[in-house]
Amino acid sequence: MAGQNKVKVAFFDFACCEGCQLTVIDALQTHLELLDAVEIVNFREASSRRDQDYQIAFIEGSITREQDEERIRRIREQASVLVALGACAHTGGVNALKNLHPLDDVRRWVYGKHADWYDTAAARPVSAVVEVDAVIPGCPIDREEFIAAVKALLVGKKPPIPDYPVCVECKMKGNVCLFDLGKSCLGPITRAGCGAICPTYGNGCEGCRGIIPNPNENAMKEVLDEAGLTLEEIMDRFTMFNSYRETEGGA
Ligand code: SF4
Ligand code: SF4
Ligand code: SF4
Repeated sequence: MAGQNKVKVAFFDFACCEGCQLTVIDALQTHLELLDAVEIVNFREASSRRDQDYQIAFIEGSITREQDEERIRRIREQASVLVALGACAHTGGVNALKNLHPLDDVRRWVYGKHADWYDTAAARPVSAVVEVDAVIPGCPIDREEFIAAVKALLVGKKPPIPDYPVCVECKMKGNVCLFDLGKSCLGPITRAGCGAICPTYGNGCEGCRGIIPNPNENAMKEVLDEAGLTLEEIMDRFTMFNSYRETEGGA
């Protein structure tokens, strides 16, 4: 039911796998109370409505084509609050891996003899094109973090996200550090909030939640020092989610 006092919310996707939108749908199924406060007016994956009148816009995906820029600027003009939803929108995500190679090669690898049919450009996070008011990190996003973010936005606050590294959560779980097992991990410089799920199951953190502010000053840098690695060396090893930062100079 359309409510007169509800905040109008829209979801838009750019280059992405749409897994973050699926997480939103999943989260809303167990938090129906949110639908008392918001009216979803545009959400291609979940609804046929295509209204262009909204206050909060959630953006999933990276900017990878010229027409993407025009579209995101139009959304920015309409939205009072624009939120980057997930790693693709936040850091460029896995899409930015293509930035490590010549674009003509990438197009040929993907589209073969029809490469010329498809427009493409270096993948960029949304913040490289328009101002972003808030971020919900991760690949995919965390469903409870999404709910907390929406509740914060509805009362005019910035969504709370941790600014400390994954190592903190990992150590609180009592895990043996992967560096002590001869493996590598981006946990010392990656934003926490996922419960250190990858190292807990024996896999190095790939940095899907983005790099924490001031990683060089972070106390967890001692983990890297002990492993004989610099910040640059560890970033070179983990390109899955942070290639835009490495190739373009900042996400
Ligand atoms: S952040 Fe991950 S789950 Fe979300 S759209 Fe991008 S690739 Fe998919
Ligand atoms: S470097 Fe990785 S495995 Fe080691 S404490 Fe940090 S998050 Fe855990
Ligand atoms: S451990 Fe690292 S890669 Fe895994 S979910 Fe957390 S931030 Fe993402």
